[in-house]
Amino acid sequence: MDQFDEMLRERQSMPAEGLKKMIEVHRTRCICGTCPTYNGCMREHQELLFCEMGKSPACPAEKRGCICPTCPVTGLLGLKKAYYCVRGSEREQRNL
Ligand code: SF4
Ligand code: SF4
Repeated sequence: MDQFDEMLRERQSMPAEGLKKMIEVHRTRCICGTCPTYNGCMREHQELLFCEMGKSPACPAEKRGCICPTCPVTGLLGLKKAYYCVRGSEREQRNL
C-alpha cells in the first residue's frame, strides 16, 4: 500500500464537508493553468484538479507536456501518474 492508497483509506472516514473543503484547497494549489497542455476551453470552463476530478468533460486536450510531477498536490496525495486531463484521475488510471 503506497501513500495514495493510504490517503484514499483515510478519506473513507472523513466527513463529507471536510473532504469538500480539502478538495477546494487542492484546487487552489493546482498549477494546470500554467501547463502547455492547458487550453483556452479549459480556462473558459474553469477546469482544474484533473487528478481528482478526472479528465476534462468538455475540452479535448492535445498532449503538449504535463507539469503535474512538479505540482505541490502530487506530493500531498502521493500521485504517480500524469496527463490527468487526458487520461483520467489517479484513481481511474490505477483502476481503483
Ligand atoms: S497534479 Fe496536476 S491535475 Fe493535480 S492539482 Fe497538480 S497540476 Fe492539477
Ligand atoms: S493534468 Fe497535466 S497535462 Fe493536463 S493541464 Fe494539468 S498539468 Fe497539464
